[in-house]
Amino acid sequence: MLLLDIRDLTLAFGTGPNAMPAVEGLSLSLSQGETLGLVGESGSGKSITALSIARLLPSPPARYLRGQIRLDGRDVLTATPRSLRELRGGVVSYVFQEPGSSLNPVLRIETQIRETLRQHRPQAADRPEVIRLLERVGIPAPERRCREYPHQLSGGMQQRVMIAMALASRPKLLVADEPTTALDVTIQAQILELLDDLSEEFGMSILLITHNLGLVAQLADRVAIMYAGQIVETGPVPEVLRSPLHPYTRLLLNSVPQLGKDRARLTAIPGSVPSLPNVPPGCRFHPRCPHAQPDCRQIEPVELPAASLNRTVRCPYALTFT
Ligand code: ADP
Ligand code: MG
Repeated sequence: MLLLDIRDLTLAFGTGPNAMPAVEGLSLSLSQGETLGLVGESGSGKSITALSIARLLPSPPARYLRGQIRLDGRDVLTATPRSLRELRGGVVSYVFQEPGSSLNPVLRIETQIRETLRQHRPQAADRPEVIRLLERVGIPAPERRCREYPHQLSGGMQQRVMIAMALASRPKLLVADEPTTALDVTIQAQILELLDDLSEEFGMSILLITHNLGLVAQLADRVAIMYAGQIVETGPVPEVLRSPLHPYTRLLLNSVPQLGKDRARLTAIPGSVPSLPNVPPGCRFHPRCPHAQPDCRQIEPVELPAASLNRTVRCPYALTFT
């Protein structure tokens, strides 16, 4: 059974003529134990998609216009407040980019983790469990660290605390939204390795949100590439990285630095993600696309199966490029 199944999700901010579509016709799925990378430039709608999984977007202004989100067998968009409380933490936990701003600065680490434990596993809300969690996420001297305040920890250690808090409720799905973007490269690698170990140990699924395809290559089984509120390509990581189909994916891959590769050959993608009110007609990517055909300006492409099982692409010309 799928743990997460999003079908045709369409949501907008605001109402009437001022409504701005933020996510359109988005379908994504995730099996138990699987790691899915959701990749795209900043502003493409990744965080909004992530927050909608537990209906965490303030609504209004967010309005769900179409589609369905099923999480652990429950229909999220029609769930009762009680069912939503059970899903949040109990089924899905989040780790965000800025650990410093997600932790409460005036509470000791132990107090914060115990609070999460009290909500989800009250019988385990004691210091030994806090220490076990901190140990599990690789925090040295956890007996001492648990009595400290967030500002006494480095960014990497704060992110480990956030992961410990996310794990405290034993979620089936961990949503990690740019979890390493604010950290040094060496710390990034350690955090990724930790997430990989935890997913294996607990059979936990991970939705890894990032603008960095390199992280996806390291951690994810499958990848979904997002552009201007839509998924433009999905598939198994090795296949997509080896033979990207959508012109946007190709350009994203060319902009990832690789060891031993000629620096001059790194290409930036011209232009930028259109802001919501300015999404162009036809294919949303056509103004930046090196392969755009005349009809790409008028006809909006749909997601089609392509190349192999489990792959889709939102570009009718994808298989004609070499
Ligand atoms: P990403 O995470 O891919 O960088 P986001 O999901 O944060 O992108 O945002 C996608 C778009 O939705 C952005 O253009 C952003 O300005 C817009 N957006 C996000 N939150 C709101 C909001 N509360 N009201 C209006 N627009 C919003
Ligand atoms: Mg984001």
